Amino acid sequence: MTANRRDFIKFVVAGSIAAGCPLDVALLAEQAGSHPAVDGEENRICHQVRDGKTFSRPPVSAHHDVVIVGGGVSGLTAAYLLRHRDFLLLEKEPHWGGNAYLMEFQGSAYGTGSAFLDKSEPSFAFAQDIGLKPLIVDSWDGTIIQGEFLPDTWGEGLDRSPYPVSVRDAFKKFKREILAIDVPRRSHELFAVPFSNFLKDYPNEIKQWWDTYGPSNWGATTEETAAAIGIFELQYISGEKRKDDRYTWPGGLGAITKKIAEIIEPHFSEHMQLGATTVAVVPDKQNVLVTYMQGAELKTVAGKAVIMATPKFITRRIVEGLPAKQSAAMQQIHYIPYAVVNLIFDRPVFNKGYDTWCPGNRFTDFIAADWVIRNQPGYKQKYNVLTCYTPLRQEERGLLLTEAGARGVAGDVLRDFQKLFPGANVDPIEVHIYRRGHPLYMSMPGLYTQVQPVARAPMERVFLANTDSEGPVSSTGSGITAARRAVKEAESRIAGKPLPNKTVALRG
Ligand SMILES: Cc1cc2nc3c(=O)[nH]c(=O)nc-3n(C[C@H](O)[C@H](O)[C@H](O)COP(=O)(O)OP(=O)(O)OC[C@H]3O[C@@H](n4cnc5c(N)ncnc54)[C@H](O)[C@@H]3O)c2cc1C
Repeated sequence: MTANRRDFIKFVVAGSIAAGCPLDVALLAEQAGSHPAVDGEENRICHQVRDGKTFSRPPVSAHHDVVIVGGGVSGLTAAYLLRHRDFLLLEKEPHWGGNAYLMEFQGSAYGTGSAFLDKSEPSFAFAQDIGLKPLIVDSWDGTIIQGEFLPDTWGEGLDRSPYPVSVRDAFKKFKREILAIDVPRRSHELFAVPFSNFLKDYPNEIKQWWDTYGPSNWGATTEETAAAIGIFELQYISGEKRKDDRYTWPGGLGAITKKIAEIIEPHFSEHMQLGATTVAVVPDKQNVLVTYMQGAELKTVAGKAVIMATPKFITRRIVEGLPAKQSAAMQQIHYIPYAVVNLIFDRPVFNKGYDTWCPGNRFTDFIAADWVIRNQPGYKQKYNVLTCYTPLRQEERGLLLTEAGARGVAGDVLRDFQKLFPGANVDPIEVHIYRRGHPLYMSMPGLYTQVQPVARAPMERVFLANTDSEGPVSSTGSGITAARRAVKEAESRIAGKPLPNKTVALRG
């Protein structure tokens, strides 16, 4: 497509910092000194938190049982479980959902983050508990190789790929080798070494495939991924007894956060504050004092307990009195920048599979937004929305900081997408970009076994939720698990009982 044609397509950038500092503090921190071209009241707050400014802390204006910081799936789940209590939920964005957030284009839902769950995950049962009926995906992932769509990459696709015979055979040998590994028995060792150790003797095409799949799913290339994760994944998608037990809704798992908010907000609107950026969490003897900024106003509230459902790179900046070892563990969790680019077509462009991998392009894979309802009686596809997942390398983070940079990334995505379908020659009517600075933690060697258990240890009255407490990969399900644990811990503390699971607060 020529630059001229692209000029007529409408690009919409969301996650802009004018909307209330959605680009997180650490992203801004990296730009310190380079004076990024961004403005706004909320940005000023973020800069100040980053710079370690101590905000004046107004006197306590309200008391609550539990203050929950962060309104992603983890914080929302905590609020849902604490409906019988006097809770206060604080979220810095103007909407709920965090990384599990869906948007709509003229009634067609599309994802900006979390896409699907597996039936074995806690999110499956939880979704049903809140009244959502999970819809089955039932479509093993395909790959576009040399312009050809190859369905079921690691199943029947292995015999049909357009690679030379030697490469095809290597894919099959790699699969056999990986399927033979006893992950549970060797889990300690396999969580400590990189997945790339298992790829050394294989052609580059296999590594390239996993260097596409890993960053999209768990934020890490083969060198950065704990081997257990890559091995387990290949066993799941290609093992003898494999079954595609993935479920979702149009627009992905944002359907879950939307539903939780719809359930609790009508009854607890006073207890759920959007646009409320927490700047300090300070434990004292009886309470924890939480200071947040909403609009131009700073407020301090007291909670008998606090649940931090924010990612750890933020948590460690605002919680006072974290043990040094715990703070150091939190610092060891790395996060990648990520853009999700939705291409909105007003005619069918691709409806062959749910999630399709595209090695060698600016984006890693794309998902058909309405896949799970396409065959429902009476459904007529109005827009073919294709959600292009575009994880970035850490050094590319600055690209997302300006609207022009984000548009540039989306332009590259569109160019590469259209190269894959030269015959189609169709332009989208709109391109929507959702940018995030640090949404997905990297599932690196040692993270799950050594770092996360230390990072999630409860303090006296501050309890740690968020998916990055749990692992082994960032998921909506583990955000829910973390919330359940933190709620139990908070309830025990309020009741004056010992903490469950004999979790011991770290000192020193
Ligand atoms: C592109 C992408 C695709 C993904 N795909 C999948 C998938 O297919 N399946 C799956 O299960 N998972 C997937 N994930 C992971 C999943 O989205 C996350 O694990 C999950 O949404 C995390 O939820 P959370 O509540 O733990 O954290 P978050 O979503 O990070 O929520 C934290 C919240 O805290 C808020 N916050 C931060 N700082 C402050 C502050 N100072 N004051 C107040 N509020 C604050 C943030 O704005 C945010 O809303 C994907 C993630 C991404 C980015």
